[in-house]
Amino acid sequence: MIKKFFLTKFVAAFFAIALFILASHSARAATIVIQNNDQPNVGFNDPTAVSPVGNNTGTTLGQQRLNAFQFAANIWGATLNSSVTITIQASWASLGCTATSGTLGAAGTVALFGNFPNAPQANTWYPGALANALAGSDRNPNSPEIKAQFNTDVGQSTCLGGTPFYLGLDNNFGSGIDLVSVLMHEFAHGLGFESFYNPTDGSEPQNMPGIFDFFLQDNSTGKTWNNMTNAERVTSSTNTGNLVWIGSRSVNEGRNVLGTARVVVNAPSSATINASGEAYSPDIRARQLALNAGATTAQVSGSVATTSPADACATVSSTVSGKIALIDRGTCNFTVKVKNAQNAGAIGAVIANISSSTNMPIMGGADSTVAIPAVLISFNDGNTLKGQLGSGLNVSLVTDASAPTGTDAQGHPRMYAPNPLDQGSSVSHWDDVEFPDLLMEWANTNDTVHSVAVPADLTLAQLRDIGWQGNPIGDNAFFVRQQYLDFLNRQPDASGYQFWTNNIFNCGIDQQCVEVHRINASAAFFLSIEFQDTGNLVYKMYKAGFNTSKAPGTPVAIRRADFLQDSQTIQNSPNKIIVGQGNWQANLEANKQAFALSFVQRAGFPSQSDAASFVGNLFANAGVTPTTAETNAAINAFNAAGGGNPGRAAALRSVCDSASVTGALRNEAFVLMQYFGYLQRDPDAQTPADYSGYNFWLAKLNGAGGDFIQAEMVKAFLNSDEYRHRFGS
Ligand SMILES: [Zn+2]
Repeated sequence: MIKKFFLTKFVAAFFAIALFILASHSARAATIVIQNNDQPNVGFNDPTAVSPVGNNTGTTLGQQRLNAFQFAANIWGATLNSSVTITIQASWASLGCTATSGTLGAAGTVALFGNFPNAPQANTWYPGALANALAGSDRNPNSPEIKAQFNTDVGQSTCLGGTPFYLGLDNNFGSGIDLVSVLMHEFAHGLGFESFYNPTDGSEPQNMPGIFDFFLQDNSTGKTWNNMTNAERVTSSTNTGNLVWIGSRSVNEGRNVLGTARVVVNAPSSATINASGEAYSPDIRARQLALNAGATTAQVSGSVATTSPADACATVSSTVSGKIALIDRGTCNFTVKVKNAQNAGAIGAVIANISSSTNMPIMGGADSTVAIPAVLISFNDGNTLKGQLGSGLNVSLVTDASAPTGTDAQGHPRMYAPNPLDQGSSVSHWDDVEFPDLLMEWANTNDTVHSVAVPADLTLAQLRDIGWQGNPIGDNAFFVRQQYLDFLNRQPDASGYQFWTNNIFNCGIDQQCVEVHRINASAAFFLSIEFQDTGNLVYKMYKAGFNTSKAPGTPVAIRRADFLQDSQTIQNSPNKIIVGQGNWQANLEANKQAFALSFVQRAGFPSQSDAASFVGNLFANAGVTPTTAETNAAINAFNAAGGGNPGRAAALRSVCDSASVTGALRNEAFVLMQYFGYLQRDPDAQTPADYSGYNFWLAKLNGAGGDFIQAEMVKAFLNSDEYRHRFGS
């Protein structure tokens, strides 16, 4: 009986661990299916042969269109929760177009529902997909939730100058129109970014407001739209600049999304110039989102040189290579100027207005081959900079997140409310003044990335404001950035960020591939040289120096609080390391040496003065039998540094860098970092307060020979409720 009792308890404990960690999140990500509603040989069934483009492997025009639809749908499916499949009935048709304007496509909810089970607001309309998600059952199983129609005229010579849809999935749209971005935008309307009011008379369907209207506030009256008369809504719909969104999630996240483009003058004297900024390409947008969150971070810094010709409308012959080009506005498109400067080697562009008008235009245009940031400054500021060219002028182009552009004083993002009314666009979009650009602005700006979450975009925040459950960790851009924050304790650098996001996006619409690439990307942060040089080095030093005496009563060598403090010391002292910038590798080595020298002087650290017994002690603490070569290397390091503390520091480095110690401690450090990085806590900071979870995973990883995929360890942590709940539901 006793045996059975123990056995039962043992099994139960394992179940507890399994449920605790292995249970994938109970609130499922949404499944979104595209229902092809086209006739044979048209739209999605168009048999025209095409070449694969930008990860879109379709070989007919119709298939590529369908792939793009599914790719965009998957982005929403990964971030929104619903137990009810969302069906988008989609088709292609001629929607009309002129040389200068055309509807790219449109989408909206098929039906509205109110007073269903679990409806958060009574007597309020919800779009079908949201009503289903909230109710947990399909309100109308025989009907799709969203209807989408796209324009077959796009790409014909009479429409928008013949600019075609770009059907690739990689945002590399060149001079085309990125279909995936347009689809993400349109699907968001169908998911709930839409007021259901009648723009002609201000009425609501059956006199019941939609959930969207609860968050639309007119700052002139202080009223929200659900509390307005029909006439008040009509007035409010054209109250330019005073119609705002008050949903708390959008307001809070807006502080990490919106900013102000600025030129910071570093030399000859410091000054800050307000600029009108525009990002031309997804590369730049990605760089901004990687760097701007919550801080004023330079996109690029450098000395300044003017171009020849001054307007950069032809090949630039002056020396701007490695510099920020100062260009006069006028004559040709902004994209042409910036591209010419880029071709001459410029790393950024500042365009000076040629009219002294204070009314600063927003730079328009899009070209995904432009890869350098560009801003527009006033005529007077341009002249000031030109006057300093001979005095060592050096500037930085920054996006200042402390000054959001396009909100009121309370941080409420402005809604699109032009006067006269823009039928079909007014109210149900963000204003176009927001900077950086947002997915749900009224016009396609072609410079958003395929991300709906902070710090790239506010659309997911807006949908969560109206009642969607969701999680930004499903968003690949958000996910990659989070790995940098959790494991490397820093914002991503542009090239690393691009590498990992592309690595996931390269999967196209293959969802299984996406999951595997996300797991591998995340594990790569533990395995990276940078982490091995910082966090993992700290772990090894604690183990070799103190065994587990710094975390008594535990199977691990270090508590998380000590780990964070010491990892940050290596990153920041005495040199602040910014990976990829300056002489960072040499600076990091100097930091490691300084840290080791201080570490060996901590209380309780082994203090033998003869090299052999000191080194033997460290290897014994680490639980490792070293090779003769490893022992000799550590002894030599001790002696070469002259013994004493410098000798102990050098020997400690040698021991920690040895293959025997690195190999022996790899799995225990790997498991510990799952808790520190993903769950942001010590392994025993749970109920019950024990190491059963840690021991379970260490045994599993050891049993799999260190293979985290076979052990399903990283996957289990990424899918755990506890991890996901850090970011959403
Ligand atoms: Zn729209």
